[in-house]
Amino acid sequence: MSQARIIDGKAFAARLREQVAAEVADLKAQHGLTPGLAVVLVGEDPASQVYVRSKGEQTLAAGMHSETHRLPAETSQAELLSLVERLNDDPAIHGLLVQFPVPDHMSQAAIVAAISPDKDVDGLTVTNAGRLASGLPALTACTPAGCMVLLKDVVGDLSGKRAVVVGRSNLMGKPMAQLLLAADCTVTIAHSRTQDLAAVCREADILVAAVGRPQMVKGDWIKPGATVIDVGINRIPKEDGKTRLVGDVDFEAAKAVAGAITPVPGGVGPMTIAMLLANTVAAAKRLNGIAD
Ligand code: NDP
Repeated sequence: MSQARIIDGKAFAARLREQVAAEVADLKAQHGLTPGLAVVLVGEDPASQVYVRSKGEQTLAAGMHSETHRLPAETSQAELLSLVERLNDDPAIHGLLVQFPVPDHMSQAAIVAAISPDKDVDGLTVTNAGRLASGLPALTACTPAGCMVLLKDVVGDLSGKRAVVVGRSNLMGKPMAQLLLAADCTVTIAHSRTQDLAAVCREADILVAAVGRPQMVKGDWIKPGATVIDVGINRIPKEDGKTRLVGDVDFEAAKAVAGAITPVPGGVGPMTIAMLLANTVAAAKRLNGIAD
Protein backbone atom coordinates (compact mmCIF):
# COMPACT_ATOMS: atom_id res chain seq x y z
CA MET A 1 0.00 0.00 0.00
CA SER A 2 1.36 3.45 -0.88
CA GLN A 3 2.05 5.82 1.97
CA ALA A 4 1.31 9.53 2.12
CA ARG A 5 4.02 12.12 1.65
CA ILE A 6 4.89 13.43 5.11
CA ILE A 7 4.90 17.23 5.00
CA ASP A 8 8.01 18.50 6.80
CA GLY A 9 6.79 21.68 8.51
CA LYS A 10 10.09 22.05 10.35
CA ALA A 11 12.01 22.39 7.09
CA PHE A 12 9.42 24.82 5.64
CA ALA A 13 9.57 26.91 8.79
CA ALA A 14 13.38 27.02 8.73
CA ARG A 15 13.29 28.30 5.14
CA LEU A 16 10.67 30.89 6.01
CA ARG A 17 12.72 32.12 9.00
CA GLU A 18 15.75 32.51 6.70
CA GLN A 19 13.65 34.58 4.27
CA VAL A 20 12.39 36.74 7.15
CA ALA A 21 15.94 37.26 8.48
CA ALA A 22 17.11 38.32 5.00
CA GLU A 23 14.23 40.79 4.70
CA VAL A 24 14.97 42.18 8.18
CA ALA A 25 18.62 42.73 7.21
CA ASP A 26 17.42 44.53 4.10
CA LEU A 27 15.01 46.76 6.02
CA LYS A 28 17.78 47.72 8.45
CA ALA A 29 20.24 48.49 5.65
CA GLN A 30 17.86 50.30 3.28
CA HIS A 31 15.48 52.02 5.71
CA GLY A 32 17.15 51.95 9.14
CA LEU A 33 14.09 49.99 10.33
CA THR A 34 14.26 47.13 12.86
CA PRO A 35 10.90 45.30 13.10
CA GLY A 36 9.88 44.80 16.73
CA LEU A 37 7.57 42.26 18.36
CA ALA A 38 6.14 42.59 21.88
CA VAL A 39 4.61 39.55 23.58
CA VAL A 40 2.62 39.90 26.80
CA LEU A 41 2.18 36.91 29.08
CA VAL A 42 -0.11 37.05 32.11
CA GLY A 43 0.30 34.28 34.69
CA GLU A 44 2.26 31.07 34.72
CA ASP A 45 0.54 28.70 32.27
CA PRO A 46 3.37 26.21 31.51
CA ALA A 47 2.57 25.70 27.80
CA SER A 48 2.27 29.48 27.30
CA GLN A 49 5.65 30.01 28.95
CA VAL A 50 7.27 27.62 26.45
CA TYR A 51 5.55 29.30 23.47
CA VAL A 52 6.45 32.80 24.66
CA ARG A 53 10.10 31.86 25.22
CA SER A 54 10.31 30.37 21.69
CA LYS A 55 8.69 33.47 20.21
CA GLY A 56 11.26 35.74 21.89
CA GLU A 57 14.21 33.55 20.87
CA GLN A 58 13.12 33.24 17.25
CA THR A 59 12.39 36.98 16.99
CA LEU A 60 15.92 37.79 18.14
CA ALA A 61 17.42 35.09 15.88
CA ALA A 62 15.77 36.81 12.87
CA GLY A 63 17.58 40.05 13.80
CA MET A 64 14.40 41.71 15.10
CA HIS A 65 13.70 43.64 18.31
CA SER A 66 11.96 41.46 20.91
CA GLU A 67 10.18 42.42 24.13
CA THR A 68 8.50 39.96 26.49
CA HIS A 69 6.32 41.45 29.23
CA ARG A 70 5.63 38.90 31.97
CA LEU A 71 2.85 39.98 34.34
CA PRO A 72 1.69 38.16 37.48
CA ALA A 73 -1.62 36.26 37.34
CA GLU A 74 -3.26 38.75 39.73
CA THR A 75 -2.64 41.70 37.35
CA SER A 76 -5.87 43.66 36.86
CA GLN A 77 -7.43 43.95 33.43
CA ALA A 78 -6.99 47.76 33.60
CA GLU A 79 -3.23 47.32 34.16
CA LEU A 80 -2.98 44.94 31.22
CA LEU A 81 -4.97 47.27 28.96
CA SER A 82 -2.76 50.20 29.88
CA LEU A 83 0.33 48.16 28.90
CA VAL A 84 -1.36 47.30 25.57
CA GLU A 85 -2.07 51.03 25.04
CA ARG A 86 1.56 51.88 25.71
CA LEU A 87 2.77 49.23 23.25
CA ASN A 88 0.22 50.42 20.66
CA ASP A 89 1.90 53.85 20.85
CA ASP A 90 5.51 52.61 20.96
CA PRO A 91 7.20 53.24 17.58
CA ALA A 92 9.77 50.47 18.21
CA ILE A 93 6.96 47.90 18.34
CA HIS A 94 5.25 46.77 15.11
CA GLY A 95 3.73 43.49 16.24
CA LEU A 96 1.88 43.04 19.53
CA LEU A 97 0.21 39.97 20.98
CA VAL A 98 -1.18 38.90 24.30
CA GLN A 99 -0.63 35.19 24.85
CA PHE A 100 -3.90 33.35 25.51
CA PRO A 101 -5.33 31.93 27.70
CA VAL A 102 -5.40 34.82 30.18
CA PRO A 103 -6.58 34.36 33.80
CA ASP A 104 -10.34 33.96 34.31
CA HIS A 105 -10.88 37.48 35.70
CA MET A 106 -9.90 38.97 32.33
CA SER A 107 -11.97 39.31 29.15
CA GLN A 108 -10.22 37.98 26.07
CA ALA A 109 -12.56 39.99 23.84
CA ALA A 110 -11.74 43.27 25.64
CA ILE A 111 -8.01 42.58 25.32
CA VAL A 112 -8.25 41.81 21.60
CA ALA A 113 -10.34 44.97 21.09
CA ALA A 114 -7.60 47.06 22.73
CA ILE A 115 -4.86 45.93 20.33
CA SER A 116 -4.17 48.26 17.42
CA PRO A 117 -5.27 46.44 14.22
CA ASP A 118 -2.05 47.69 12.57
CA LYS A 119 -0.01 45.72 15.13
CA ASP A 120 -2.39 42.75 15.53
CA VAL A 121 0.02 40.06 14.29
CA ASP A 122 -2.29 37.28 15.56
CA GLY A 123 -5.02 38.59 13.22
CA LEU A 124 -7.64 38.43 15.98
CA THR A 125 -9.12 41.93 15.91
CA VAL A 126 -12.53 42.47 14.33
CA THR A 127 -10.83 44.79 11.84
CA ASN A 128 -8.43 42.14 10.57
CA ALA A 129 -11.06 39.37 10.60
CA GLY A 130 -13.39 41.66 8.62
CA ARG A 131 -10.67 42.67 6.18
CA LEU A 132 -9.85 39.00 5.56
CA ALA A 133 -13.53 38.17 5.02
CA SER A 134 -13.85 41.15 2.65
CA GLY A 135 -10.84 40.18 0.55
CA LEU A 136 -8.79 43.18 1.71
CA PRO A 137 -5.13 43.05 2.83
CA ALA A 138 -5.09 41.94 6.47
CA LEU A 139 -2.84 40.64 9.18
CA THR A 140 -3.95 37.00 9.24
CA ALA A 141 -3.81 34.52 12.12
CA CYS A 142 -0.41 32.82 12.03
CA THR A 143 -1.41 29.15 12.15
CA PRO A 144 -3.92 29.27 9.26
CA ALA A 145 -1.47 31.40 7.26
CA GLY A 146 1.20 28.75 7.90
CA CYS A 147 -1.18 25.99 6.77
CA MET A 148 -1.74 27.88 3.51
CA VAL A 149 2.00 28.06 2.85
CA LEU A 150 2.20 24.28 3.25
CA LEU A 151 -0.89 23.66 1.13
CA LYS A 152 0.22 25.90 -1.72
CA ASP A 153 3.52 24.08 -1.87
CA VAL A 154 2.11 20.56 -1.62
CA VAL A 155 -1.07 20.94 -3.69
CA GLY A 156 -0.06 23.80 -6.00
CA ASP A 157 -3.16 25.39 -7.52
CA LEU A 158 -5.96 25.12 -4.94
CA SER A 159 -8.65 26.46 -7.26
CA GLY A 160 -11.79 24.30 -7.33
CA LYS A 161 -10.60 21.87 -4.65
CA ARG A 162 -13.11 20.65 -2.08
CA ALA A 163 -11.81 21.77 1.33
CA VAL A 164 -13.25 20.77 4.71
CA VAL A 165 -12.15 22.59 7.87
CA VAL A 166 -13.14 20.85 11.09
CA GLY A 167 -13.32 23.55 13.80
CA ARG A 168 -14.70 27.10 13.71
CA SER A 169 -12.67 29.07 16.26
CA ASN A 170 -11.79 32.71 15.57
CA LEU A 171 -8.09 31.84 15.89
CA MET A 172 -8.05 28.83 13.60
CA GLY A 173 -11.11 27.40 11.84
CA LYS A 174 -12.75 30.61 10.58
CA PRO A 175 -9.62 32.32 9.18
CA MET A 176 -8.52 28.98 7.69
CA ALA A 177 -11.83 28.70 5.85
CA GLN A 178 -11.56 32.31 4.64
CA LEU A 179 -8.04 31.74 3.30
CA LEU A 180 -9.14 28.59 1.46
CA LEU A 181 -12.12 30.47 0.03
CA ALA A 182 -9.83 33.28 -1.11
CA ALA A 183 -7.76 30.61 -2.89
CA ASP A 184 -10.95 29.53 -4.76
CA CYS A 185 -11.58 26.29 -2.88
CA THR A 186 -15.14 25.11 -2.25
CA VAL A 187 -15.16 25.23 1.53
CA THR A 188 -17.18 23.43 4.19
CA ILE A 189 -16.75 24.35 7.86
CA ALA A 190 -17.61 21.48 10.20
CA HIS A 191 -17.98 21.69 13.98
CA SER A 192 -19.35 19.88 17.01
CA ARG A 193 -22.95 19.99 15.69
CA THR A 194 -22.11 18.71 12.20
CA GLN A 195 -24.05 15.58 11.31
CA ASP A 196 -22.17 12.60 9.88
CA LEU A 197 -18.80 14.29 10.18
CA ALA A 198 -17.05 11.24 8.69
CA ALA A 199 -19.02 11.58 5.43
CA VAL A 200 -18.36 15.34 5.29
CA CYS A 201 -14.63 14.74 5.76
CA ARG A 202 -14.60 12.03 3.07
CA GLU A 203 -15.59 14.68 0.47
CA ALA A 204 -12.42 16.67 1.09
CA ASP A 205 -9.51 16.98 -1.31
CA ILE A 206 -8.04 19.14 1.47
CA LEU A 207 -8.91 18.28 5.07
CA VAL A 208 -7.87 20.61 7.88
CA ALA A 209 -8.47 19.34 11.42
CA ALA A 210 -8.42 22.04 14.13
CA VAL A 211 -10.48 20.49 16.88
CA GLY A 212 -8.38 19.73 19.97
CA ARG A 213 -9.53 16.08 20.24
CA PRO A 214 -6.77 13.49 20.10
CA GLN A 215 -6.82 11.29 16.96
CA MET A 216 -10.50 12.00 16.31
CA VAL A 217 -10.25 11.90 12.50
CA LYS A 218 -10.00 8.25 11.48
CA GLY A 219 -8.32 6.74 8.43
CA ASP A 220 -11.65 5.85 6.80
CA TRP A 221 -12.80 9.50 7.06
CA ILE A 222 -10.18 10.44 4.49
CA LYS A 223 -10.64 10.46 0.73
CA PRO A 224 -7.82 8.46 -0.90
CA GLY A 225 -5.08 10.86 -2.03
CA ALA A 226 -6.38 13.83 -0.01
CA THR A 227 -4.03 16.35 1.61
CA VAL A 228 -4.48 16.32 5.39
CA ILE A 229 -3.39 19.23 7.59
CA ASP A 230 -3.48 18.33 11.28
CA VAL A 231 -3.48 21.44 13.46
CA GLY A 232 -4.29 19.69 16.74
CA ILE A 233 -1.81 19.62 19.60
CA ASN A 234 -2.96 17.13 22.24
CA ARG A 235 -0.99 15.50 25.03
CA ILE A 236 -1.98 11.89 25.80
CA PRO A 237 -0.60 9.49 28.41
CA LYS A 238 1.91 6.79 27.42
CA GLU A 239 2.24 3.37 29.03
CA ASP A 240 5.40 4.46 30.92
CA GLY A 241 3.40 7.18 32.71
CA LYS A 242 4.88 9.98 30.57
CA THR A 243 2.93 11.81 27.85
CA ARG A 244 3.28 12.26 24.10
CA LEU A 245 1.94 14.76 21.58
CA VAL A 246 -0.63 13.69 19.02
CA GLY A 247 -2.78 15.60 16.56
CA ASP A 248 -6.51 15.54 15.85
CA VAL A 249 -5.93 12.89 13.15
CA ASP A 250 -5.15 9.21 13.64
CA PHE A 251 -1.80 9.64 11.87
CA GLU A 252 -0.86 5.97 11.34
CA ALA A 253 -4.23 5.09 9.77
CA ALA A 254 -4.45 8.36 7.81
CA LYS A 255 -1.04 8.12 6.20
CA ALA A 256 -2.06 4.85 4.52
CA VAL A 257 -4.93 6.67 2.75
CA ALA A 258 -3.93 10.32 2.32
CA GLY A 259 -1.74 11.67 -0.47
CA ALA A 260 0.11 13.99 1.91
CA ILE A 261 -0.17 14.66 5.64
CA THR A 262 1.41 16.84 8.32
CA PRO A 263 2.81 14.97 11.33
CA VAL A 264 2.37 16.08 14.95
CA PRO A 265 4.82 17.26 16.13
CA GLY A 266 6.83 18.71 13.25
CA GLY A 267 4.02 19.70 10.86
CA VAL A 268 1.90 22.79 11.36
CA GLY A 269 3.35 23.75 14.78
CA PRO A 270 6.75 25.06 13.62
CA MET A 271 5.08 27.21 10.93
CA THR A 272 3.15 29.26 13.48
CA ILE A 273 6.06 31.22 14.95
CA ALA A 274 7.70 31.59 11.53
CA MET A 275 4.48 33.21 10.28
CA LEU A 276 4.40 35.43 13.37
CA LEU A 277 7.82 36.80 12.38
CA ALA A 278 6.64 37.28 8.78
CA ASN A 279 3.50 39.10 10.00
CA THR A 280 5.62 41.40 12.19
CA VAL A 281 7.83 42.32 9.23
CA ALA A 282 4.71 42.95 7.11
CA ALA A 283 3.25 45.15 9.87
CA ALA A 284 6.53 47.09 10.23
CA LYS A 285 6.58 47.77 6.49
CA ARG A 286 2.94 48.93 6.41
CA LEU A 287 3.37 51.15 9.47
CA ASN A 288 6.39 52.78 7.79
CA GLY A 289 4.85 53.11 4.33
CA ILE A 290 7.29 50.64 2.74
CA ALA A 291 5.80 48.76 -0.23
CA ASP A 292 5.90 44.93 -0.36
P1 NDP B 1 -11.15 25.64 20.04
O1 NDP B 1 -11.40 24.79 21.23
O2 NDP B 1 -11.29 27.11 20.15
O3 NDP B 1 -12.11 25.15 18.84
C1 NDP B 1 -12.31 23.79 18.59
C2 NDP B 1 -13.31 23.63 17.48
O4 NDP B 1 -13.49 22.22 17.28
C3 NDP B 1 -14.68 24.21 17.79
O5 NDP B 1 -15.16 24.94 16.68
C4 NDP B 1 -15.55 22.99 18.09
O6 NDP B 1 -16.88 23.09 17.63
C5 NDP B 1 -14.87 21.93 17.25
N1 NDP B 1 -15.12 20.60 17.81
C6 NDP B 1 -14.96 20.19 19.10
N2 NDP B 1 -15.33 18.92 19.24
C7 NDP B 1 -15.74 18.49 18.02
C8 NDP B 1 -16.24 17.26 17.53
N3 NDP B 1 -16.39 16.20 18.31
N4 NDP B 1 -16.57 17.20 16.23
C9 NDP B 1 -16.41 18.26 15.41
N5 NDP B 1 -15.94 19.46 15.82
C10 NDP B 1 -15.61 19.56 17.12
O7 NDP B 1 -9.69 25.22 19.54
P2 NDP B 1 -8.66 26.00 18.55
O8 NDP B 1 -9.30 26.25 17.24
O9 NDP B 1 -8.00 27.12 19.26
O10 NDP B 1 -7.56 24.85 18.41
C11 NDP B 1 -7.84 23.61 17.82
C12 NDP B 1 -6.64 22.69 17.97
O11 NDP B 1 -5.54 23.27 17.31
C13 NDP B 1 -6.18 22.50 19.43
O12 NDP B 1 -5.66 21.18 19.55
C14 NDP B 1 -5.05 23.49 19.58
O13 NDP B 1 -4.10 23.09 20.55
C15 NDP B 1 -4.45 23.44 18.21
N6 NDP B 1 -3.74 24.65 17.82
C16 NDP B 1 -2.49 24.50 17.30
C17 NDP B 1 -1.76 25.58 16.90
C18 NDP B 1 -0.42 25.36 16.30
O14 NDP B 1 0.41 26.23 16.34
N7 NDP B 1 -0.18 24.20 15.71
C19 NDP B 1 -2.27 26.94 17.05
C20 NDP B 1 -3.64 27.01 17.51
C21 NDP B 1 -4.33 25.89 17.90
P3 NDP B 1 -17.97 24.10 18.29
O15 NDP B 1 -17.61 25.46 17.76
O16 NDP B 1 -19.25 23.60 17.77
O17 NDP B 1 -17.79 23.99 19.77
